[in-house]
Amino acid sequence: MESGYIKELFSSFQGEGPYTGRRQIFIRFAGCPLSCFYCDTTYARTPEPAYCSFINKNKNRAVALIENPIGSHSVLELVNELRTPDVHSICYTGGEPLLSAAFVNEIAKEARDMDYKNFIETSGYSATSFKSIVMNFDFASIDIKLRSHRAVEDGDYSRLYSNELDSVRISVDNGLETIVKVVVTRGTSVNEIERVCRDLSDLEIKFVLQPVTGADIKPDIEKLFTLSELAGSFLDDVMVIPQVHKCMGIL
Ligand code: SF4
Repeated sequence: MESGYIKELFSSFQGEGPYTGRRQIFIRFAGCPLSCFYCDTTYARTPEPAYCSFINKNKNRAVALIENPIGSHSVLELVNELRTPDVHSICYTGGEPLLSAAFVNEIAKEARDMDYKNFIETSGYSATSFKSIVMNFDFASIDIKLRSHRAVEDGDYSRLYSNELDSVRISVDNGLETIVKVVVTRGTSVNEIERVCRDLSDLEIKFVLQPVTGADIKPDIEKLFTLSELAGSFLDDVMVIPQVHKCMGIL
């Protein structure tokens, strides 16, 4: 049986992309190999936290600390404690869940047997790891990182970008509903977005431009109109959606 490191386990509403408002059970895996400058989950980037915070909705959202590493069966027992009639899916998020691919895969496989749908949020930084888990997932939300996001050293960017594109292709080819998200900051250029959209133009995806949260770096509305129009000239399904969970004040 696989075991691994989880930072948080809780039930909430999806706050990003086209599934905003859907109830999900979130498993936030620990660790991330990237370092995006706008990261809002830096607390989840430590690879081996001593404890997982389990937020139990049945006990006034009291937080219980569960010792890491946790076995996959125990994870599913905790997930079942959070199951409610409105649950859309289990959301595997991070940090970066692909860092724990074998652990993720085992949980996802068992979850399917329990009639859960599986939804992964990833940067797609390793197409090989993504390929190893894709068969147990129904939805993938893949974040394409721009060079200006400074997720990796400049010299490593081409490799990251090519893995991300490969992950999107693998997702579509395996029949997952595929969402591609790009975080837009004040510094995002037209050229960066054009390149991504051109490279994705033959794929059936939902494309989300997500204005970054943060007053000092968020893009103005004119930029969002311009980038949305540009994306629409390459892709059929384009949307601009901010992080709604931040407005609601929830995780
Ligand atoms: S990939 Fe996600 S968790 Fe990792 S640094 Fe970027 S925003 Fe943060």
